[in-house]
Amino acid sequence: MSSTEFVKAKNDFLEAAKRTYESGIQTGTGGNLSTRIPGTELMIVKPSGFTYGSCTEDNLCITDFDGNLVDGKFKPTRECTLHGNLYKRYPEIGGIVHTHSVYSILVSMYFDQLDLVTLHTELKFKVPMPVVDVTTQSVTPEELPKVFAAIDANPGVMGFLLKRHGLVAMDKTAVKAGQTAELIEETAQILWEKRKMDLLLGK
Ligand SMILES: [Zn+2]
Repeated sequence: MSSTEFVKAKNDFLEAAKRTYESGIQTGTGGNLSTRIPGTELMIVKPSGFTYGSCTEDNLCITDFDGNLVDGKFKPTRECTLHGNLYKRYPEIGGIVHTHSVYSILVSMYFDQLDLVTLHTELKFKVPMPVVDVTTQSVTPEELPKVFAAIDANPGVMGFLLKRHGLVAMDKTAVKAGQTAELIEETAQILWEKRKMDLLLGK
């Protein structure tokens, strides 16, 4: 890999980790993010057990798309199967952010999709986020077809919700995926509050 591509990917990863941590959409050590290293079959992923806020140059993991560690001192996130297989199947994805965000989880438990209730999400996302019912702790190879089916049935979709689990945002870079994740969570909150008001008003 060219060192320029690697440095760009590393900076994208670290900036996305910092921004996502500061946004407050992920607490503790949950969630994970990754950046594709362009021109390679490799990705930078969050080490397991680290918070978004503690990701630094010294603890990042470089793995192949099957999650095998190529460089780094720590164990990569167990969600590598999901990240790597999304990069393998969808070449347009350059960054992925996954968080266990409160309103996205609530919406995933009661709805089949995240409706784009605001004007701006309708304009930006165009396609509602499907809810995928994955029952395992992280997405296993056996559960991947459910994820692929949801994405393929909604061309252009920029993310999805994992039922009772959290959100996954996909974009050209990890920084953009982080911004998409924030917007998904914000939309979930608005949808959740709107439905409560609808009930109150008997709509
Ligand atoms: Zn998770």
